Amino acid sequence: MLGSAGFDPARDILGISVNGWAHGYAYDMSSHALFDQVYEDTEDVRYPPMQARKRFGRITIANADSAASAMLEAAVEQGYRAITELPV
Ligand SMILES: Cc1cc2nc3c(=O)[nH]c(=O)nc-3n(C[C@H](O)[C@H](O)[C@H](O)COP(=O)(O)OP(=O)(O)OC[C@H]3O[C@@H](n4cnc5c(N)ncnc54)[C@H](O)[C@@H]3O)c2cc1C
Repeated sequence: MLGSAGFDPARDILGISVNGWAHGYAYDMSSHALFDQVYEDTEDVRYPPMQARKRFGRITIANADSAASAMLEAAVEQGYRAITELPV
């Protein structure tokens, strides 16, 4: 969009930071199937957050986004899940 004005993303973008407080509220799945396919089980592995939070070796994924819920308790629950996924 800005290329004709001389903007070169490779040259002009050094990093992208998402500020959670102002603009990065956790994505919530559309409960009315407006944008998302809805499955019976809220933990269905076909949901993008379920795929995105898969363990990668010794790295496990916590945070509210991994529950697709912007509530504090979701972040805490996901933190607990992430810890229990770690190999002992
Ligand atoms: C305006 C607002 C009001 C809200 N009100 C409520 C409410 O009333 N009730 C409720 O339940 N929830 C509420 N929430 C939601 C709740 O605050 C969030 O869901 C919760 O804080 C998310 O926790 P988190 O651990 O996933 O992420 P965060 O709390 O965002 O924690 C992420 C942490 O990672 C750090 N970080 C980021 N990048 C890096 C990096 N590269 N290296 C190291 N650290 C990094 C950040 O500094 C931050 O400390 C509200 C949120 C907002 C924005």
